[in-house]
Amino acid sequence: MKPIPYGRQHITQEDLDAVNKTLLSDFLTQGPAIKEFEDQFAAYIGARYAVALANGTAALHLCALALDVNANSTVISTPITFAASSNCIRYCGGKVELADIDPNTLLIDMDAVENMLEQAKPGTYTGIVPVDFAGRAVNLEKLRAIADKYKLWIIEDACHAPGGYFTDSKGIQQKCGNGQFADLAIFSFHPVKHIACGEGGMITTNRKDLYDKLQLLRTHGITKDPQLLHENHGGWYYEMQELGYNYRLTDFQAALGSSQLKRADEGLARRKAIAARYDEAFAGTAIRTYPVPATEGHAYHLYVVHTQRRKELYDHLRANNIFAQVHYIPVHLQPYYQQQGFRKGQFPKAEAYYEGCLSLPMYPTLTDDEQEYVIKTILTF
Ligand SMILES: *Cc1c(COP(=O)(O)O)cnc(C)c1O
Repeated sequence: MKPIPYGRQHITQEDLDAVNKTLLSDFLTQGPAIKEFEDQFAAYIGARYAVALANGTAALHLCALALDVNANSTVISTPITFAASSNCIRYCGGKVELADIDPNTLLIDMDAVENMLEQAKPGTYTGIVPVDFAGRAVNLEKLRAIADKYKLWIIEDACHAPGGYFTDSKGIQQKCGNGQFADLAIFSFHPVKHIACGEGGMITTNRKDLYDKLQLLRTHGITKDPQLLHENHGGWYYEMQELGYNYRLTDFQAALGSSQLKRADEGLARRKAIAARYDEAFAGTAIRTYPVPATEGHAYHLYVVHTQRRKELYDHLRANNIFAQVHYIPVHLQPYYQQQGFRKGQFPKAEAYYEGCLSLPMYPTLTDDEQEYVIKTILTF
């Protein structure tokens, strides 16, 4: 049996052809493939605007910049996520605070968020970064109501959830990143995510003001748009109007992204089928599964279980060529965040989850035989 990772990309001949075609075209970066990918992605997610970027972390950084995060900002996020969700606030000098998770959904606990907001002096907090962890959509309708009451912006970290959704109070399926409730949402195209570009990221939004600002920030803060220039010395003329970055995606990566996007629904359906099989296999065993309660709009970036004997099971799987993973070591336990003043014991639900969590192999090309081997290896442990 060849090694089975927890996640992996799926590259087809069609993907290779799309990349090759772009490599041989006139543009390697910021050509037509970028805009095509942005338009197609925005349509898929149901958002008005999309901005392609070098990676998901760059996307988070530009979101924080576009929302004017600075040394006076305090932002709330969740401890169970990849550190980048919080790091983007620190890049801009802002302060990060965390709210514990709901142990059933594994998402940020909205009651905990409301408590923090109620107890703080008005104006203490400026924004919130919820995460659609594992692929389960945060109920952003609820979170928006809280955010509005306290005048907070929302950056939705939707890296795990392209194609995921929650059902709102009117019965409408609200897709992750569709910009109905969050000001900005971000996605990653790292190979283990649903859509692979090698490295790559995307911001989606319905706000034109933020979209314009993001486009500027992506390329050094430079514009050549005659409408926006203060002066104009001729055809060569450009202005650097803000302190921006080079966070561009290349055209051939965008071509790969567009090609992958065509198979996004197919991949999502396969992920759901794999999750259903795991659910069935572990029902009534000592292996705890998520999400609780079950939810239709889950995008299953990860299939997480919880076990009392995580380390032994992890090692046992490794010895059998199955490379499960742990998502995540809580953000506040990282040495850097301990230096920022966080303490062990501060978020007991996140810590209890971390003690037993394990992400099992979950990717569209995982075969039925491979999955049965994973299940058997776990159940005979
Ligand atoms: C992958 C990921 C990121 C960062 O994306 P990169 O493209 O690797 O920079 C941020 N947040 C979450 C939740 C992620 O899973």
